[in-house]
Amino acid sequence: MALIVQKYGGTSVGSPERIRSVARRVAKFREQGHEVIIVVSAMSGETNRLIALTKEVAANPSPRELDVVVSTGEQVTIGLLCMALEDIGVPAKSYTGGQVKILTDSMHTKARILDIQDAPIRSDLSEGKVIVVAGFQGVDEFGNITTLGRGGSDTTAVAIAAALNAEECQIYTDVDGVYTTDPRIVPEARKLDTITFEEMLEMASLGSKVLQIRSVEFAGKYKVKLRVLSSFEGREGEGTLITVEEDKNMEQPVISGIAFARDEAKLTVVGVPDKPGIAYQILGPVADANIDVDMIIQNVGRDGMTDFSFTVARGDLDKTLKVLETVKEHIGARSIEADKAMCKVSVVGVGMRSHPGVASKMFRTLAEEGINIQMISTSEIKISVVVEEKYLELAVRVLHKAFGLDADDAK
Ligand code: ASP
Ligand code: MG
Repeated sequence: MALIVQKYGGTSVGSPERIRSVARRVAKFREQGHEVIIVVSAMSGETNRLIALTKEVAANPSPRELDVVVSTGEQVTIGLLCMALEDIGVPAKSYTGGQVKILTDSMHTKARILDIQDAPIRSDLSEGKVIVVAGFQGVDEFGNITTLGRGGSDTTAVAIAAALNAEECQIYTDVDGVYTTDPRIVPEARKLDTITFEEMLEMASLGSKVLQIRSVEFAGKYKVKLRVLSSFEGREGEGTLITVEEDKNMEQPVISGIAFARDEAKLTVVGVPDKPGIAYQILGPVADANIDVDMIIQNVGRDGMTDFSFTVARGDLDKTLKVLETVKEHIGARSIEADKAMCKVSVVGVGMRSHPGVASKMFRTLAEEGINIQMISTSEIKISVVVEEKYLELAVRVLHKAFGLDADDAK
């Protein structure tokens, strides 16, 4: 007998029928002798609907009241799922975040979990009940309802699995696992049986939205066995297991996946004096405006002048341009250039630690297609390039093939 935490996302509980289907699956698990804790999201579309509703009442609602409203979606789901379970003879009990209790800091709309006081859950579990917990929400030390940021139910599930030392945390979703890349772009994409936490973190932060990034960090830190699988009946399979260790017994491909992020914009401050403090004078005000900067390049200086480029999310472009206009005056730069239709494509794999030549293969592959690389950045297990967005699909497809990830090429 093992304790399993299962999390069901919005689509998996998106209708009464889907909720009954989840109940049947949970019943099956319990019959196999497992103890089960379920974490659920709001029914699909519900959180968006609630946010839109708040906007109709007030342009700038206070974060505290926003959390009071948006946390209700999950409360509906826990009640409905418990009813569905009881209806088929499975004893169940629902818990809001505050009832568990999931203690967080007071950063409304993006709170962090500090502690899980699990005594009530444990005692209900020992009485043979299925526990159904509302994801995404917690309570701060003053009793205020908090939420963990969009997609936060994943983090709730992993945190509960860590706190209760569960055998496995299973994330049921609308895809049957983690893929080598988005199958909508590359139909030959394959489901991965395993992927390491590090790779998953890179994939997630590069725009592969299977899991909330924070949940992956959490799982890596507390060594929670995390599995992503489909909630559609008959399609569950083994999903993808996210492992702490690289699987050394298997002949692993060097690259595990191709990740990408659309909607990037590139800014260049042209003709800035090449002297100490310039990067800070440009990026300091950008950071103060709460704009996230991704890739940064400072070109080699010539005649005491240089160009300085960086990327931001496209949605932040106008705001960034405004900041840079002031910076330009201040530091005496020649001009500001903006390229708004950019994207980032990355190859990810722990195998590149031991296999040189990944970068050259990547650059050659892109060159053969006439795709111009505008910026490059690397980490130990990732190489990213910024290219024009019109090349995104092509770049992902040719790289997927070049690194032997297409389904036909797999052994
Ligand atoms: N319902 C919340 C959201 O849509 C949390 C979640 O689904 O994980 O962001
Ligand atoms: Mg989600």
